[in-house]
Amino acid sequence: MKRRDFLKGAAVAAAGAAAAACGVKGIKGGHGGDADSLARADSVSAAREARMPRAYQPVTGSRMKLSWEPYELQLSHPFGVSGNTRTTTPDVQVKIEYDGFTGYGEASMPPYLGHTTESICAFLANVKLGQFSDPFRIEEIMDYVNSLSKGDAPAKAAVDMALHDLFGKLLCQPLWRIWGQDPDKTPVTSYTIGIDTPEVMSAKTVEAADRFKLLKVKVGTPNDKSRISAVRSVSDLPIIVDANQGWSDRMEALSEIYWLKEHGVVMVEQPFPVGRIEDTAWLKERSPLPIFADESVQGMADLRNCRGAFNGVNIKLMKCGGLLKARQMMSYARAVGMKVMLGCMTETSCAVSAAAQLSSGVDFADLDGNLLISNDPFEGVLVKDGRITLNNLPGLGLSIKK
Ligand SMILES: [Mg+2]
Repeated sequence: MKRRDFLKGAAVAAAGAAAAACGVKGIKGGHGGDADSLARADSVSAAREARMPRAYQPVTGSRMKLSWEPYELQLSHPFGVSGNTRTTTPDVQVKIEYDGFTGYGEASMPPYLGHTTESICAFLANVKLGQFSDPFRIEEIMDYVNSLSKGDAPAKAAVDMALHDLFGKLLCQPLWRIWGQDPDKTPVTSYTIGIDTPEVMSAKTVEAADRFKLLKVKVGTPNDKSRISAVRSVSDLPIIVDANQGWSDRMEALSEIYWLKEHGVVMVEQPFPVGRIEDTAWLKERSPLPIFADESVQGMADLRNCRGAFNGVNIKLMKCGGLLKARQMMSYARAVGMKVMLGCMTETSCAVSAAAQLSSGVDFADLDGNLLISNDPFEGVLVKDGRITLNNLPGLGLSIKK
């Protein structure tokens, strides 16, 4: 059948089906029939249209209002990585209000990124969202927000997240559904065991082993093997290791990776300092485990520069500046054959739930930041049997704890 005939046939069939559904006789291809039957068809059609849900229309004259408030995250346990240990993380909570709806966002500031509460608040004070009347134009709005400075990624991520939360709430759908994500394909999330004494690390492992299917252990200090052995002595769960740039000698790194593989480690994150791309590429060529970038890739430009040196990339909203950028990076990484991990900082369920909206089908997820703090103001995505579990609430899927 020629394509034109096929389309013509389909149109006639569709018209016939519509006529049958409306109980109207005598309509052929949209023409014909007597005046009464056409009038009846019009009235049925009008009644049906009246019952159809209306797409949300931005209210004329409404303007978005951005507000923010500093918030200090309290960590449940002191958190050690290669280079420092801390008990709190500075954070700024963000709201965008529009036409009776509120979108939430968040900027979390782990020390190594160099942002402060003051710098984030100063950036947000320059963001004039009142000039935009249509909150659905997220790309246009974020182009403006991104143009305000070269850095400030956590502040930009907070605005991006709040816009997306608002977007989903206006459409009354969770973002994962709007983006066509399959909620049955969400990954397990790793649970992070920070650097501590072997005794404390094995105790933390026992605490986590019933609830999680994947562990993440921070390495990059002289006692890596004793710490891995301490974790392994109480659990058979697969382990991701994160060196946080803490290794220096490439032959020693390669030897350690072989040892780690024998002890159930499945992936290595950020072995060398950021600038050592050639050493990382050398290691990747020889490593029996995949090597993922974290600190080496903040945004798309880094991802392009690093594509041959790593097997995969850990994408975090606070590094790249939000969901729009993260989606672009995920598409690029997949297009060039890199694996994707979704990660987070220590942050509340707001930012973790935002990242989780993208998590369906990723290779690894490390979305446990909200589980490491004791003062989470939100409930959002949950971890059930070790797996990220999305909910049906609109936007980021958040509710505020009472
Ligand atoms: Mg990392």
